[in-house]
Amino acid sequence: MTSEHTAAVAGVAVDTRHWIGGARVGSPTAFTDVSPVDGRVLAGVARGSSFEAGAAVAAAKAAFPGWAATPRAERARILHAIADGVQKRSEDLAQVETLDNGALLRSHRRGVMPRVAHNFRFFADRLLTLDLDDFATPAGAVNHVSWDPAGPCVLITPWNAPLMLATWKVAPALAAGNTVILKPAEWSPLTASLLADIAADAGLPPGVLNVVQGYGGEAGAALVSHPDVRRIGFTGSAPTARRIAAAAAGHLTPLSLELGGKSPLLVFADADLDLAVDLAVEQYDNAGQVCLAATRLLVEHSVATEFTSRFVAKAARLRQGDPRDETTDIGPLIHPAQLEKVDGFVRRAVASGAQALLGGTPNVELGGTYYRPTLLIDVAQDSEIVQEEVFGPVLTLQTFADEDEALELANGTRFGLAATVVTSDTGRARRVSERLVAGTVWVNCFFVRDLRAPFGGSRASGIGREGGTWSFDFFCDIKNTVTSPGS
Ligand code: NAD
Repeated sequence: MTSEHTAAVAGVAVDTRHWIGGARVGSPTAFTDVSPVDGRVLAGVARGSSFEAGAAVAAAKAAFPGWAATPRAERARILHAIADGVQKRSEDLAQVETLDNGALLRSHRRGVMPRVAHNFRFFADRLLTLDLDDFATPAGAVNHVSWDPAGPCVLITPWNAPLMLATWKVAPALAAGNTVILKPAEWSPLTASLLADIAADAGLPPGVLNVVQGYGGEAGAALVSHPDVRRIGFTGSAPTARRIAAAAAGHLTPLSLELGGKSPLLVFADADLDLAVDLAVEQYDNAGQVCLAATRLLVEHSVATEFTSRFVAKAARLRQGDPRDETTDIGPLIHPAQLEKVDGFVRRAVASGAQALLGGTPNVELGGTYYRPTLLIDVAQDSEIVQEEVFGPVLTLQTFADEDEALELANGTRFGLAATVVTSDTGRARRVSERLVAGTVWVNCFFVRDLRAPFGGSRASGIGREGGTWSFDFFCDIKNTVTSPGS
């Protein structure tokens, strides 16, 4: 079923217009949203321009004083009500997200949508415990730190985990007392629209959350260059980040950037090899379209043959197919353009001497945008396949002789998002972790997240940290009021 403004996606009605100032607003033109699962057209979605971007910023600006003045406990109550709404509609959200971006339905059901709800609950609760104790100078002047709301925030998000990554920013921005304009990625625009419905049902006042749909170079570019925007929170690729940073510079708008990675997984000879193989195979999750994915396997010489044969045996058993099927391990890539990009990286790597021990081609039996899980060996450290983010199910394997060489390889790209170390030697784990350049280091585990922890990238993987207090550092205007003794 589709009407002019509503698409039925997995039986769920999704309004495909913008959500601005508490009302649905259309655009004269639409863009087509296609499912990577089977190539079907899901919806025509309003194609925002500078006109809708301006209207959304105006709505967010108008709503700001009221929301900023809303007592924290009331803001927290509404955020919990949004979390309740997410939980109530989590099956709808999971079904729509799966058709829209092709990630596994079972992950959306069991991992992603509970995390979306948790994003709201966590920042609602954290808001209530933000305050520091006042402290006095030796002469008795009292310092009081306050976390003031900053104003309208533009949040620009990617398609690989659409609602999870959007709410990771929306929730702290709203908790901090800001108003929000969310621009979801054009390849996965639908769950952001459902979030607007859920937030309205939860009692979020009009204009506090706005959703503008459209292309990055149109709606997105207009939003990030708007003078009334007080924060820009961006998750996406480095090339886009450069454009956004240039636009933000025009008004000195503070921005946080969560970008790509080329993370290493270091396997030392003393590692539990079963664990190392399990962690390495996990890197194919979401068809490798995960910023944190440890796409560079670095293995100590003496265990490389054993590790590689166990890895290939296990990875070859992964089931690729329809992401709605509970038994599927790897779904499709998001878009034909992404398949082209991934295949191009692999072809160029093979042409320059790499060998595919696994995969290396699109999965022609499944057609569409399915790409086989791939392992490349004989890759040089300075080659494109080792240095650039592929964002597909493509891992490289290199070997090392000792800790120093392991670290040289691990730190030898321009990225610094995450790193995983597999070793049974706690001293080595500590030594190596200290020398790794990464926003997150996992020891004998992967993807374990606690929202109290800082999250972000070093080097070209980003600017700033989010999570816990760090999100409030970014989304608040932090003020220190000093009162002289006796006042
Ligand atoms: P992208 O940079 O192409 O697009 C991200 C968003 O930016 C989209 O909403 C897009 O419409 C918008 N955009 C594009 N041009 C714009 C412009 N000129 N002005 C304003 N907005 C614009 O990224 P993508 O392909 O959607 O996502 C994949 C990338 O995101 C990968 O590099 C991945 O590593 C990264 N990522 C990082 C994290 C993290 O937390 N560090 C998480 C997920 C994804």
